[in-house]
Amino acid sequence: MASSSTRAVLYLRISLDREMDGLAIDRQREACEKIARDRGWEVVDVYIDQSKSATDKTKKRPDYDRMVADFRTGKFDAIVCWDLDRLTRQPRQLEDWIDAAEDRGLHLVTANGEADLTTDGGRMYARIKAAVARGEVDRKSARQSAAHIQRAKQGRAPKGTRPLGYATNGDVIEHEAEAVRKLYAYFAIKDGVSIAALAAGLSGKSAEHIPRSIPVLPAHRRTIMIERNERRRADGLPAKPVPENKPWTSSTVLGILRNPRYAGYSVYTNRMDRTESNKRRTWTAQILRDENNEPVMGQWSPIVTEEVWWAVQRRLDEPARITNRTGSTARKHVGSGLYLCGICDETVKAHSQRYRCASDEPYPHSLMRSRSQVDAWVLTVVRARLARPDLADTLPTRDEPRLKRIDAQIDLHKGKIARAQYDYDNEIIEGFDLKRVREREKTFITALETERDKLVIGSDLGPVLRSSDPVMAFDAADLMIKRRIVDFFCTVRLHPHPRGKKNFDPATVEITPKALAHV
Ligand SMILES: [Zn+2]
Repeated sequence: MASSSTRAVLYLRISLDREMDGLAIDRQREACEKIARDRGWEVVDVYIDQSKSATDKTKKRPDYDRMVADFRTGKFDAIVCWDLDRLTRQPRQLEDWIDAAEDRGLHLVTANGEADLTTDGGRMYARIKAAVARGEVDRKSARQSAAHIQRAKQGRAPKGTRPLGYATNGDVIEHEAEAVRKLYAYFAIKDGVSIAALAAGLSGKSAEHIPRSIPVLPAHRRTIMIERNERRRADGLPAKPVPENKPWTSSTVLGILRNPRYAGYSVYTNRMDRTESNKRRTWTAQILRDENNEPVMGQWSPIVTEEVWWAVQRRLDEPARITNRTGSTARKHVGSGLYLCGICDETVKAHSQRYRCASDEPYPHSLMRSRSQVDAWVLTVVRARLARPDLADTLPTRDEPRLKRIDAQIDLHKGKIARAQYDYDNEIIEGFDLKRVREREKTFITALETERDKLVIGSDLGPVLRSSDPVMAFDAADLMIKRRIVDFFCTVRLHPHPRGKKNFDPATVEITPKALAHV
């Protein structure tokens, strides 16, 4: 290539890094211009960045970025800089430039005589330098990770922004912890409230489907900034702007429900694991485990029990939930998805002021019932049941050892399916065998889950059923508790309302008491 056609750019940088001399821009420029002149290159642009570390990926170097963009569009064929450290100290970037020199004929020369990437020897030197630099970066992050892991193994609170409910030192902040407890308690209930409704409750909104007993809190980011400003003021520093008090979002509440720290688990996040695709899995993977695979417990007080935490994770992991994050699985009326259609025995849906079933099976029908009339009657019947003196006898006691055994058994059966799947993938068994194993194990799992639900119901509904005035407690309870209690005691079937009849006829709402197997 004729040297007269070479278009060169200069890259100059003043660094305040302690390891670097504060070499003046003018001197860098003179030396670089001399190189270009000596080689007969035309200088088409000069890029200058100031006082930024070349190692830190997060710090912006606008002119460097502009230079990279210009190189991509073919604006120049040569770069002259003072030394490679000044160009970049990120090994990845240096390797990119070496590749450009090798593959695309980029000339890269340093004025201090360190490297000339137009030669094989110069490129090799630069590669070694990049490799050494990469090693340093890796060692540095390994050192930092080791410190974080050690911290976590000792069960000390992780550094960084404090989560809702905990002070930076790990102490419990009671009024926030109460909100965390409520969020977990509500969400642990099967078919209970949606995440969006929890966020709304925390933000102080009210509607029939929003739990009323969740404490209303200002946005956490706002609280954090106010606290930081208090510390800044104590240090004689000016306050920073405080974010507006925005409503809580579902994603923030989800982060609370997923955080293992609330169950007392010590956590460690490998930054490399934090990719978009496996976000959902990483929460439980963050729980630090000892050599026996037992979770390491933090030195802070848990805000929720391990059982509640895992119940919440199970509900979050339900497949219906993962594909349907808006929370429309949660119901807004007592009977939707609960009462049955008296014609087809499928559950009815809420449709404006009515409950409705429209189906072609077993014959085309459209059932419509007034929601307020039906609910009023059902609630009257349930209240009457709650007022009976034998109520306490109907309640199962929560049997934790039995629950643990059920969970272990469920895991065992799931493991059998996973093993069969593995054997099938490795062509050890046939598809027929896999199907057989799967069906058999699923039968076991379903039975165990049903038993689990029956045991758990006592703790969900206990506060109402064990109350000294169950009827009053029922009336004051949130919607999903009411639904669970209705479901606990009876099956409701809606029959068509006789034509021409004006008044509500209770006979058209068939309420069958459930056989309480555990009584
Ligand atoms: Zn129907």
